[in-house]
Amino acid sequence: MTFAEEPADILARLRELREGDAPTHGGHVLSYVYDPGLAELDELAADAARLMQPVNGLDPTTFGSVAALERDLLGFVRGLLHGDSDVVGTVTTGGTESCLLAVKTARDAWVAAGGTGQPRLVMPVTAHAAFQKAAHYFGLVLDLVPVSAEGVVSASAIEERLGDDVALVVVSAPSYPTATLDPVAEVAALTSARGIPLHVDACIGGLVLPFWPGLPAWDFAVPGVTSVSADLHKYGYAPKGVSVLLQRGRDRQRMQYFATTRWPGYPVVNPTILGSKSAGPLAAAWAITHALGVEGFQALADSTRRSTAAIVEAVDAIEGLRVVGTPTGPLLAVAADPAVSAERQVDPHHWADAARGLGFVLQLQPASSGIPSTTHLTITPVTESVLPDLLGVLTTAADAVRGIPHVDPTAALGQLPPLTGPLDSDTAAAILAGFGIGAGGALPDTLAPLLAIIEVTPPPLAERLLTELLARLIEPHE
Ligand SMILES: *Cc1c(COP(=O)(O)O)cnc(C)c1O
Repeated sequence: MTFAEEPADILARLRELREGDAPTHGGHVLSYVYDPGLAELDELAADAARLMQPVNGLDPTTFGSVAALERDLLGFVRGLLHGDSDVVGTVTTGGTESCLLAVKTARDAWVAAGGTGQPRLVMPVTAHAAFQKAAHYFGLVLDLVPVSAEGVVSASAIEERLGDDVALVVVSAPSYPTATLDPVAEVAALTSARGIPLHVDACIGGLVLPFWPGLPAWDFAVPGVTSVSADLHKYGYAPKGVSVLLQRGRDRQRMQYFATTRWPGYPVVNPTILGSKSAGPLAAAWAITHALGVEGFQALADSTRRSTAAIVEAVDAIEGLRVVGTPTGPLLAVAADPAVSAERQVDPHHWADAARGLGFVLQLQPASSGIPSTTHLTITPVTESVLPDLLGVLTTAADAVRGIPHVDPTAALGQLPPLTGPLDSDTAAAILAGFGIGAGGALPDTLAPLLAIIEVTPPPLAERLLTELLARLIEPHE
C-alpha cells in the first residue's frame, strides 16, 4: 500500500520534535535520565528491545522468551539484594507499578489475615509519592511520619504509629527528596516483632547501593524486610519501562496476582497491573545486565561515586549553599545555608534557574513537611565526562544569584479569586494564565516563581492547577 505520509518524512518530524527535548545523553540533565555514558550499551539495549517488539508480555506461556528473560533478570537482582530462594518476584513496568503492587499485596494479605475496616499505610513523608498514589488507588489510610529538616526519620517515630490496622510500613533506600537511607534494620526489628510487613523502596538505589561501600544492611539481608522495589530503568541503565518487585515468601507474593476464569474469554492471570504489555524494556534490561555483569555495574557505580563526592565537596565550598543531611548514594539535595547572613545565602531555586541558563538542568523541589526549598541532583556515570564544566557552572550560578531572596509569591497569589468550591477547568486555566502559563503549557524561563507559588498554595488547589496544566498540554489542537 502507499502510506498517507512518507516514513522518512514522519521520522524527520519526530527527530525535530526530539531536538526540542532536554538532552537525554551527555550528563546535562541531572534527574529523570540515567546515562551510563556507553553508546554500545544503548545500542545493545535498543537491539534487544527491537527483537522483542512484536511480543506480548501478557502471556509467558505463549511467549516463553518472556518467562526466560524475567526469570534470569529476577535472579540477577535477587542475588544483588541478598534474597534467598524464598524471595520471588515480578518484572513490572516501572517504579510506580512496583510500589503500587507492594501496597496492593500488603492490603490483600491484611484482609486475608482477618483485618476489617480500612488498613493503614505508615511511611516517612519522604517516601516516594507513588505510595501516596497507592494508598489513594487501593483505599488505605495514608499515615505520614514526620522527618527532621535533614530528611531523617527516627525508628521510634515509626514505632508510635504501629498497630493492628497497619497493613504495611515503607522505608526508602534511599529516599528521593533528600537521599536519606532510612533506618531499615531498626524499623524491621519493630515491624517484624508485631508481624507487620516492611517494604524497602529501593527504586532508585536498588541497582547502585549494592556497589556502594560501607553501608549498613538495608535489603533482604535484614530479616524483617518483606519486599523490595528496584528500578532497572534507573541505575540498571535500561530504557524506561522496567523495574522489579521482589517479595519474601511465595504465599505472600501470590496475593499480588489477579486471576479470573469468570468470563467467556481467555483465563486472565496477571501478576502486574497491565494486561497486554511490551517486553522490550525487559529484554533491554536483561541484555544490559549480561553485558555489564557485576563488575561492569561496580565500575559504573565507582565512577558515579567519585562524581558525587566531587559535587558534594564543590557545594560545600560554595558560600551560601549546603548539602541537606547525609546523602547515601548518587543523589543529593541542596538548600540555602542558614549559617551565613541573608545577603550571602544562595536560594536553591534561583541557583537551579541560573544553572539551567548555563546548560545544566537541575530539579527544583518545593519546601514541604519541614524540609526547606531544595534543588535535587541525580548523578550518573556520564557525569564524570562533564564534571569540570558542571562544577564550574554550579559555582558561577551561585555567584550570579547570591543574596537574591526566595521568590515572594504574595503578589501572584493576590490574583487568585476567592475559592468557594471545586474549580472548573476554565477557571483553573484562567488562574494559570494569570501566572503566565499559557494554554500550550509553555512554562516560563525561570521556575523559581512557579515553585514559590506551589509552596504556599494549599495542596488541593495546587494539585488542581497542575492537573489542569498537564491536561491542557495534551489536548488536541482545534
Ligand atoms: C523513581 C522512584 C520511584 C518511582 O519510580 P518511577 O519509575 O518513576 O515510576 C519510587 N521510589 C523512588 C525512591 C524513586 O526514586
